[in-house]
Amino acid sequence: MIKFCSLVSGSAGNSYVFSDGLQPFLVDAGLSGKQIELRLEELDIDPRTLSGILITHEHIDHIKGAGILSRRYDLPVYANQGTWRAMEEKIGKVAEKNRKTFKTNEVFPMGGLSIKPYKTSHDAAESVGFTVSAKHEKISIATDIGCMTPAILEEIMGSDLVVLEANHDVEVLKAGSYPYSLKRRILSDEGHLSNDAAGDCICYLVENHVENFILAHLSEENNFPELALSTIQGKLQERKLLGGKKINVDIAFRNRIGRVYEFDKS
Ligand SMILES: [Zn+2]
Ligand SMILES: [Zn+2]
Repeated sequence: MIKFCSLVSGSAGNSYVFSDGLQPFLVDAGLSGKQIELRLEELDIDPRTLSGILITHEHIDHIKGAGILSRRYDLPVYANQGTWRAMEEKIGKVAEKNRKTFKTNEVFPMGGLSIKPYKTSHDAAESVGFTVSAKHEKISIATDIGCMTPAILEEIMGSDLVVLEANHDVEVLKAGSYPYSLKRRILSDEGHLSNDAAGDCICYLVENHVENFILAHLSEENNFPELALSTIQGKLQERKLLGGKKINVDIAFRNRIGRVYEFDKS
């Protein structure tokens, strides 16, 4: 079985909690230590019981509280070599024994769950997404993806739940106040996925029997939850994919924790 909850998601911070039913762990810790503690408290999770913090990449919205939590609760931090090099100075001292390195594309265990870090196209040293699998269940994290690739689709196929980036609406971004260079970065193949791109990806996954989605990493400035949802719904309708299927599209918010998902097919 797998449990999942979004603690925070958006350009200002990202953190998710997974559990095999016994021991929880975090994927990213992009808020202050205090803010993450408060959100864990809402779920009745004592930070001391975490088995570690997995890091996707070194951007501050993913690592802000990682060092603090590691020092405060003696937690292992897991990242690949490229990310370790790039984030080392930003997160401060992590005890040698808590410094864990995984290899991109190599599966490793976290309690009863298997983690597969897969490569993403993003302007960071060695950014990854994760698939988290139990014996019969699987949840995928796919955010900070400059562009969706066949390789990523292959990784996240067969998931019970896909947490997918829907960062911006292209028109809102273009019309907005961000400087030209930042707009270009976001729109590039190493930036962030748009609502349209997320919609196309969801259509493809629905055709391949994925039913549950959480739209994540929404930009505060260049997106609105309603707009993201209606873009996805529009695409699903256009391709006539809603007939007879129960497709659940949820949003991960920046200001509150999400709903707790639990999959148990055993
Ligand atoms: Zn990033
Ligand atoms: Zn990010």
